[in-house]
Amino acid sequence: MSTIVATQTSCEVCGHTAWQHIDTLTSGIWDKQAKELKRQVLRFPIGQCQHCSHVQVTIPYTDAIFGALYFSNALEPDMWCDTPEGEKSPYEEMSAFFASYIKMGAHIVDFGAGGGATLKHIDSQFKEFSIKLSSVDFHDHIQSNTVEHITANLNQLDTILPHFAKYPINIAISTHVLEHIVEPVRYLTQMSECLVEDGIIFIEVPDCSPDAFTDNLGVTNIVHCQHIHYYTKDSLKLIAEKAGLKIINQQQLTTGDIPRLLLLLKKVTTVQISHHSVIKHSAKLAVEQRFSQYNGYLGALFNRIQQKLTQQEKVGLWGIGGDFYLLIQSYPSILTAIENQKIMLYDYELAGHTFAGQEILSSTGLELVVNIVYIVPIYAPTRERMTKLSQNWHPQIIDPYLDFE
Ligand SMILES: [Zn+2]
Repeated sequence: MSTIVATQTSCEVCGHTAWQHIDTLTSGIWDKQAKELKRQVLRFPIGQCQHCSHVQVTIPYTDAIFGALYFSNALEPDMWCDTPEGEKSPYEEMSAFFASYIKMGAHIVDFGAGGGATLKHIDSQFKEFSIKLSSVDFHDHIQSNTVEHITANLNQLDTILPHFAKYPINIAISTHVLEHIVEPVRYLTQMSECLVEDGIIFIEVPDCSPDAFTDNLGVTNIVHCQHIHYYTKDSLKLIAEKAGLKIINQQQLTTGDIPRLLLLLKKVTTVQISHHSVIKHSAKLAVEQRFSQYNGYLGALFNRIQQKLTQQEKVGLWGIGGDFYLLIQSYPSILTAIENQKIMLYDYELAGHTFAGQEILSSTGLELVVNIVYIVPIYAPTRERMTKLSQNWHPQIIDPYLDFE
């Protein structure tokens, strides 16, 4: 079922404003001012452009939304699960993808460098090339002697163009950033203006192409409130063209359950008139799949809780965040059970607050529990961390999604 929703945003690829609604992501933050937690709900409708088929969030990202989303997540969440022994890490795969373009004395710049994991990896792998490394981001989280930091709002790269006119870039990289950028065509255009004539851009984004690995998107953060855009090989080809770039290499990889699209772009020297203004394979299918899988996980957790409650057993829930909130929204009987003290709530950070009148206990107390306790977060790296943390505690602490996967 789909309906046409008129909104204020226009498509960032073609400029049209007619959307086919796909689904709505519900996110939010806890208002912790009072003892009783209140949820500030943020809804992000995701739609497909009826003109070019690009998929993106169809409401504008206002300063207030940006503030709420990025302020509440001061720490970057784990992007990847641990790399299994003997396998390449995502960073090794990234640098291997553009390694043949690295020349002596190259200037490599990471746009949206975050904690600098990618740059640190390049620094250690290509020491003999005397590379000059720079980072561009809102904040200098790297604090490194070997990386020059340039502070910039990634949505307004105009301010740093003069700097890179002086120190042009051989390889500009931007991994898992383009999906957060309001205007991707403008972002790529401005990155390209920072390049030497034969410079290249390396981009990595979550891959929503229909032939990507989309079997288990429910446990990934592919659909995320900070992700404005959902890309496929076809949509990025069109976006690159509009930015005066062409794709010179591309690779699809899967790490854990995360499908990744790696692209190398270079400037086109002659103006080409594009004949492809419509995206043949859009991200619609991947986004739909993520929602149906995610709802399946919530349903699996509900069934397990319900079973215990029917047997008159008390149940604990560990991790009182976004998934917990959606669980009680989808299954109001869980809220009733919480109100009736049949469900205990555990969360390290929220301990001392109450929800539905019930005290949230610190997860440090989980070592002593005797009831079944279910891990609530669905996102795989979070679950992995909680499982590891609790493995020496009590065998009753259960990842309810393991059987479901
Ligand atoms: Zn469009």
